[in-house]
Amino acid sequence: MSDGLAGQGDLLLAFDADDTLWHSENLYHAAQAQFRELMTSYADESTAMATLHRVEVANLPPYGFGVKAFILSMIEAAVELSGGKVTAAEIGEMLAAGKEMLAAEVELLDGVADTVARLSADYPLMVITKGDLGHQASKLERSGLAAHFRYVEIVTDKTAEVYRNIFAKHGIAPQQVVMVGNSLKSDVIPVLELGGWGVHIPYRLTWAHEHAELPADLATKYREIERLDELPALLREMR
Ligand SMILES: [Mg+2]
Repeated sequence: MSDGLAGQGDLLLAFDADDTLWHSENLYHAAQAQFRELMTSYADESTAMATLHRVEVANLPPYGFGVKAFILSMIEAAVELSGGKVTAAEIGEMLAAGKEMLAAEVELLDGVADTVARLSADYPLMVITKGDLGHQASKLERSGLAAHFRYVEIVTDKTAEVYRNIFAKHGIAPQQVVMVGNSLKSDVIPVLELGGWGVHIPYRLTWAHEHAELPADLATKYREIERLDELPALLREMR
């Protein structure tokens, strides 16, 4: 028997994880503040932040997303901002800040635990997250949510092509998918492009690289809610 969904009327709910199920960007913001602080003798705040952001984006192709890539980018930006004078002690503080991020407790967003448990009784659930394989798997394990997900996909990037391959692998038509996430660029738009549904739940912080505009022609299957616990009512309305 195929593990695909029984009929075209059945929906699969797919969730982003970072800043959709649990807090993540707040840890990056805290580490960025530490970085700014460490760089005060070399550069002003806005130069430090702009350099770090430029280095992070340039490092996406070689390193991918996640905390380990972020640590390497902090070090590279510090070398540049200090003209090569950054000290081993300062680099040590960046490494420590990164390890703290990796070890940080998984803090679920409001309403997530109950909503995910409730939805898993009615729908097959998938989590699709990008970043370091080990770190993302460890967060899912520590979140207490893992048992609710039928499918877990940890990917290096979230493009329409990547989503197409994931759904095809499981025998799921994109039209059956409702993708829920905090990033228009990574979670919502690529799935809308494939003909699925996209539900946007903005997080209070968004990494500059994840900013995007919703193309007007994709708006019919797009919805926005403020919290995950509004999703069950939205699904009833959509059906
Ligand atoms: Mg996210």
